[in-house]
Amino acid sequence: MAYTVPRPRLTLAEKVYLPSIVGGLLITLKHMLRLLTGQTKVTMQYPEQKWDAQLPSWYRGAPTLVSNEFGRDKCVGCQLCEFICPPRAITIHPEEIPADERWSKVEKRAKSFDIDMIRCIYCGLCEEVCPEQAIYLRKDYSITGLSRAEMVHDIHKLRELGGEMPGLVNKWNEKK
Ligand code: SF4
Ligand code: SF4
Repeated sequence: MAYTVPRPRLTLAEKVYLPSIVGGLLITLKHMLRLLTGQTKVTMQYPEQKWDAQLPSWYRGAPTLVSNEFGRDKCVGCQLCEFICPPRAITIHPEEIPADERWSKVEKRAKSFDIDMIRCIYCGLCEEVCPEQAIYLRKDYSITGLSRAEMVHDIHKLRELGGEMPGLVNKWNEKK
């Protein structure tokens, strides 16, 4: 059965628009005064000045691989992040951990792990999907390179950026 949504009845003030226009102008005026009094700065002298100190805790920078306190990559080469990545920026080649090695119980690890930072859209889905809490978007935002090849972060670069993250990390709470 069709349902008709009743039209809202506008008040006189809403019909003439003036209060909204004045409200908008007041906001513009407020920002102009903040600019003129130096309370708001719109220009940053990058790269001499950095944004780092002002990055919010939830900022999503470059994805990286972290290791545990024993120096083992937390990644177990399951490829979930590769499958979930919307722009297909991740390429992983997993391998079996030989039975005589210390972490053989883990079974698998990433032999190679590449993230193409030209493709990456910093969405954070890889971090969200990882069952091992092995991939994290750190706060690095200055990702540059002189060639396409340089913009592909291999496993060594990802480890270097990620560093150590000991113990079980609770991603979605304040302990992060
Ligand atoms: S980073 Fe996480 S999701 Fe990606 S392959 Fe490694 S363990 Fe799997
Ligand atoms: S942040 Fe998003 S786009 Fe970048 S590698 Fe992870 S899943 Fe892919």
